[in-house]
This record gives sequence, structure tokens and C-alpha cells, in this order.
Amino acid sequence: MKNISIWEDINIKVKSKNIEKELTTDILIIGGGITGLNTAYFLKDIGKQVAIIDKGKIGCGITSKTTAKISYLQENIYTKLTNNFDEDTAKLYLNSQIDAIKLIKDIIDKNKIKCDLEKVASILFTRDAKNIEKISKEKELLKKWNIKVEDILSDNIVSGIKVSDTYTFHPLKYLDGLVKIISEYVDIYENVTAKNITLEKDKYKVETNRGIIYAKKVIVACHYPFFIIPTMIPLKTYIKREYVNVAKMKNTSNYSAINIDDNLMSIRYYKDYLIYGSNKHRLTSKIDYKENYDKSRKDFKNLFKKDPLYTWMNQDIMSNDNLPFIGKVKDNLYISTAYNAWGMTNSMIGSKIISDLIMDKENKYEKLFNPNRINSSLIIESIIGSFHYMKVYPEALFKKSNPEYIEIKGVKYGVFTDTFGNRHMVSLICPHMKCNLVFNREENTWDCPCHGSRFDIDGNIIYGPTTKDIKKCIKK
Ligand SMILES: Cc1cc2nc3c(=O)[nH]c(=O)nc-3n(C[C@H](O)[C@H](O)[C@H](O)COP(=O)(O)OP(=O)(O)OC[C@H]3O[C@@H](n4cnc5c(N)ncnc54)[C@H](O)[C@@H]3O)c2cc1C
Repeated sequence: MKNISIWEDINIKVKSKNIEKELTTDILIIGGGITGLNTAYFLKDIGKQVAIIDKGKIGCGITSKTTAKISYLQENIYTKLTNNFDEDTAKLYLNSQIDAIKLIKDIIDKNKIKCDLEKVASILFTRDAKNIEKISKEKELLKKWNIKVEDILSDNIVSGIKVSDTYTFHPLKYLDGLVKIISEYVDIYENVTAKNITLEKDKYKVETNRGIIYAKKVIVACHYPFFIIPTMIPLKTYIKREYVNVAKMKNTSNYSAINIDDNLMSIRYYKDYLIYGSNKHRLTSKIDYKENYDKSRKDFKNLFKKDPLYTWMNQDIMSNDNLPFIGKVKDNLYISTAYNAWGMTNSMIGSKIISDLIMDKENKYEKLFNPNRINSSLIIESIIGSFHYMKVYPEALFKKSNPEYIEIKGVKYGVFTDTFGNRHMVSLICPHMKCNLVFNREENTWDCPCHGSRFDIDGNIIYGPTTKDIKKCIKK
């Protein structure tokens, strides 16, 4: 069993450049995932100097562990948007997703990108009688907007609908194809982490671990922005984690599917493989990641009578009002984030909006995704959300466990003992916004339940938004 995603066997070849102390460019894209590379694609031939930096390798982020369904049937999003906003807003969102699918298909066809794009039906289903109503509401809305939607019947479900003009692909083969196209026009810098951004006269100064970058325009495409102000993304979003297991099957099918029940079931096929996502949950201070991992593998075995060949975990940013945050944050500074686990389409629409704004073109979705918006759904969810992180630190405090939790002069520490008996002690406070960290027994990492930052047992950053290591303590 491999603890990587099924996509990560691919090696994206990049001619990465080095920053010699300082770099000046017209446009800087921070983050080389699907958002950053799509944006670079649209900006590649506008006659400006464009550079991309990534803190690791291109494509090493959330995109490398996605399930890559390209669909506009996204749980019951249209009902949710109608409730949070109104029907016009929900319909505009639908149009944005359909346009994004067309753009993805056009780019792949035009450039002959070999990324196993396949037209498959998308199914939305429930196995719980109490959710039948939710499915029929979603169907009603789609029908009203002239989307061809069919009912599906099966012994395994109580209600389901299907649309047919949707796709799946191999996400890293797609990114590899984009890198080949943009490399001629765009400079790529791997292993460069943006740590701070400030405005200096008419350009942005971006401090990185490899030197300063000056840019007239900056696009923040690094999944979770590393700054809090402007936009206050941490107050408008939360993180959901999902566990994915993959096995080879004798029979595969030409559809992808997702349910709307409490226990997520997400299905797609790739060649002979079944890719199954489950156990989706909000990050809170009470979760035990190992338990979730174990449960997801056990459920997979029970359902499909197979041990997984690949098994992995991934997390995405969920917006409190169900719409991503995309666009201009302030003059010459742009973000695209919080895709609610539908990043294949939303990264495409985000890249199109931002590149249109940079080229002074109108985009009909600019207002819909305004990243500076504030509304009642965002505020109410933010207040409710804060209760998920209230538990200050684990109940296991002072009990014998690995890690141990100790307190010295009022400061809480976690001490993990490795297999050689070495003790690794770190402060339990996340440097990003001071949330209390939770230990992840599956991967031996310290994880922030509020905003998703992750650290190794010595407190070194594995994953942002934080740009700082946990304050280290002397090993005891
Ligand atoms: C389990 C799971 C399944 C999913 N399945 C689907 C699906 O079927 N369909 C769908 O549409 N969506 C799906 N999604 C959502 C989708 O995968 C994501 O929304 C999308 O991949 C995010 O892309 P991104 O480019 O914004 O982020 P990333 O891919 O994470 O790219 C951001 C990049 O920025 C870099 N970076 C971060 N911080 C810095 C910094 N400070 N300086 C420099 N670089 C930095 C990172 O290294 C990374 O490479 C799923 C999500 C999950 C969790």
C-alpha cells in the first residue's frame, strides 16, 4: 500500500530558476498548483514578465491529492446558494462552472495535453431517506435552468440524479502539460516560500526564503493565503479533510458520483482503478486523525472487498457562504481560494477572472466571487465555527501518552517520543493565529484545527498558511 496519491507517480519536469538575492518582475504568481498554472497560462503571452514561485515543487500541493472530478453537480450547492443569496446568484454560479468546464476542455484540446480527459456522467445521490427532498430540490433548480438532468435508480441508493456533460482527468498530467506550454514565457522558481508582502511606492515587495521579489502585480494562488489582512480569509472559511483509498477493480464505470449524506461517499474511476473518498470532516480540536484514517480503510474494505493500493488524506478550504473568494483584494493584489472541494472548475474560473482583471477586460463573474465581500452567512458561520476550536488543549494533558502534554510556567507543550527514545518538544501554539495544535498520530505531525497549518515533530512547517516554524524547545 502506498501512502501517496495515485497521481504522484508522475514527475513534473520544471526548469526551475534561482533567485540571486533579488528579483524584479511585472507579475508574480505565488503558488504553482492548478490555480497558479492556469493563471500563468492566460497571462503567458500578454507581453509582461511573469514569474511563478512555489514553496516546494510545482504541483506538490492540494492538487496532487485531489480526486479531479470536473463537474458542476457539486452536492446540493445550488440549493445552498439560493438559501444564502438568491436563485440568480445560484444560477450565475452554475454558469461559471459550465464555462470553466468549457475552458478546461478547450485548453486541453487546443494544446493536445495528454491528461486522460474523459467525458463521464456525474451522479448525485443519497442513501438516506431524509435527504430525498434535498435531491429533488437540486433537481428542480437545475431543470428550471434547462439543464438536462435524469433520475437514476439503483438498489444501493434511495434517490439520485445524473447529468452527462462532465469530465474527469489526471490532474498532474494536466499540470505537466501546462508547464510545457508556459515554460517558454514564464519563469518558474521552485522551493521559494513567500513570507510577507508589503506595498512599496508603486510595487509590492515580497519577502521569501531566497531573497526579495519586487512585482507590480501579485496573484496569491497558494491555496491558503499567508496573510490575514486584507480579506480576513481565516474568519470567512474553515477546513475540511477527506480520506481517499484506491484499488484496482475488475469492472469500472463511466461516471463519477458523490452523495449528500453525513458520511461522504465520493466515487470516480481512473483506468482500472476505483478512487473512493470518504470520512470527510471539519477540522476541530477534538479529532483523532488516525482513527479517521483507519475507519476509511476499514469502510473501503467492507464496501469493495479489497485492500487499498493507495491511501491518502487531503484538505480543502470551505467558504462560510459556499462561494469561493476570487478577484482583486486591493490595487494590483489578487487572490483565488476557498473552492469548497471543487477546485478543478473554480481554479479555472478564478484564473480567468484574475487574468481578465489584469488585462482590463470585463468578466461577468467578478462581482459574484468578490473576495472582500461580507454578508450575514459569512459572519454567522464564523461565530458558530469558533466553537469547534474552543477546547483549549487535549484531555490527555498530564496523562501518560505519546505525545505527552506538559505545562511549564503556564505554557503548554507537546512532547513526542520517537522510536529511538528521543523526545521532541514543541509549544502547542500555532504561530499563524495562536490556535492550539492537535497531534496527528497517523502521520506524526502537529496540525492546526482552525486553519490547517501542519508541522513536523520538531515544529518545522510542512504546510501553511503559517510561514513560521513553531517556537522550538530544547529536547528533554
Ligand atoms: C480529498 C479532496 C478531493 C477533491 N476532489 C476534487 C474533485 O474531485 N474535483 C474538484 O473540482 N476539486 C476537488 N478538490 C478540490 C481541489 O483539489 C482543490 O481545491 C485545488 O486542487 C486547489 O488548488 P490550488 O492551486 O488552489 O492549491 P494547491 O494545489 O495547494 O497549490 C498551491 C501551491 O502553492 C504553494 N504554496 C503554498 N504556500 C506558499 C507560499 N507561502 N509561498 C510559495 N508557495 C506556496 C504550495 O506548495 C502549492 O504547490 C478536492 C479536494 C480534496 C481535499
